[in-house]
Amino acid sequence: MPTAIEYFKLLPKTNCKDCGQPTCLAFAMQLANQKAKIEDCPHVESGAKDSIAEAAAPPVKTITVGTGNAKIPMGGETVLYRHERRFINPIAYALTLSDECDDIAKRVDYVKSLQFDRIGMIFKADMISIRNDSKDPAKFKAVVEEVMKLWNEPFVLESDDPAAIKEAVAVSKARVPLIYGASADNFDAMLAIAKENKVPLGIKATSLEEAVTLSEKAKAAGYDEIILDLGAKGIKNILEQQTIARRAAIKKKFKPLGYPMMNRTGSGEYAVMTAVISTLKYGSLVIFDDLKNYEALPLFTLRQNIYTDPQVPIQVKQDIYPIGNPDEHSPIMFTTNFSLTYFTVRADIEKSKVPVWLQIVNTDGLSVLTAFAAGKFDADHIKAAFDESGVLDKSDGPVIVPGLVAKISGKLEEAIGRKVVVGTTESKNIPKHLKQMSI
Ligand code: SF4
Repeated sequence: MPTAIEYFKLLPKTNCKDCGQPTCLAFAMQLANQKAKIEDCPHVESGAKDSIAEAAAPPVKTITVGTGNAKIPMGGETVLYRHERRFINPIAYALTLSDECDDIAKRVDYVKSLQFDRIGMIFKADMISIRNDSKDPAKFKAVVEEVMKLWNEPFVLESDDPAAIKEAVAVSKARVPLIYGASADNFDAMLAIAKENKVPLGIKATSLEEAVTLSEKAKAAGYDEIILDLGAKGIKNILEQQTIARRAAIKKKFKPLGYPMMNRTGSGEYAVMTAVISTLKYGSLVIFDDLKNYEALPLFTLRQNIYTDPQVPIQVKQDIYPIGNPDEHSPIMFTTNFSLTYFTVRADIEKSKVPVWLQIVNTDGLSVLTAFAAGKFDADHIKAAFDESGVLDKSDGPVIVPGLVAKISGKLEEAIGRKVVVGTTESKNIPKHLKQMSI
């Protein structure tokens, strides 16, 4: 990405303030931090605008599979390491559905079943790759039509045969599937189908060098909505090739490799290891022959970790969370909206079997002591959260202050006009405390 000074050189330097910034340099800094768009300055010459737009484009092009609410953007990355600036578009995982499958509904249901709720987030398999094992274009097309009735998410059309792809795309192009299987042998025909139907094309190379050649060929033909399978085989090779490609794209601005990357793998432990490597090092899509739920859960969790912004804690919404059917005399507890705090406290309240109204206070994801030190978990913030949810009207039970911030008790009592009780300093002691209170 260009620096502020590089942007500044292309701006008019009149400091007219029409962009809302006091100077052109201030605007250039906003551009460099991706907090402004070049269109916000009405005085940039069109030539300079084009230069800026090209310079600001991510070194890895964003390619989208699917459409409407069912679309998956891939690529768009700007950095090699997530601590520099978070990774943008999470890798997608697809499971194969052969066009020789004798129970399509059952297979689609299985893919749908790969879904987990983890700290309030839903992890799931993203795509189905419909594979033309039958080598029969008419059968392939019929299976694609049947899958489309059962599966509303994005999908892949997988075949080496341009005739089969052409028939399948004709009935599915409105859903913008990914065509996968453009090799050196069928490249011109596959590219023509992708270009004509405006669907992304998966390039199936046999080496890094061939991937570059085919990528350049697509660009020269005027259609580079492409995803690259570098043809790497083996975990070491995948790691090396995908790292070389991404470094070339980001550090050297080598455009032929500036596209999302994908892998096709089988099933079992080796396939999962392939997906782990690709998740860690720059993959945007892995297609499995099959994936079991006990393999999917750790893999999806890894993805969640890699694609979470390391600078932003995971948070839950400020709200009131009733636990165990609380009534008008149940205790009211509260804590911060840092997800780990919320789920730990919630689990310990559930263990007590005592019904509780749990109020979550928005502290921008900070934990109790950090939020208190930052002035985001004081009597005023807590009262505001109580007022917003109306929790004090739901129960006349005791209001329990987390023991770590016992010192706010006096001010909180004054703010809410209710007596408060100091709770435990450690969450694990909540069950014992609640049980003693309810005796
Ligand atoms: Fe500079 Fe353009 Fe902003 Fe005016 S509108 S201050 S020329 S960046």
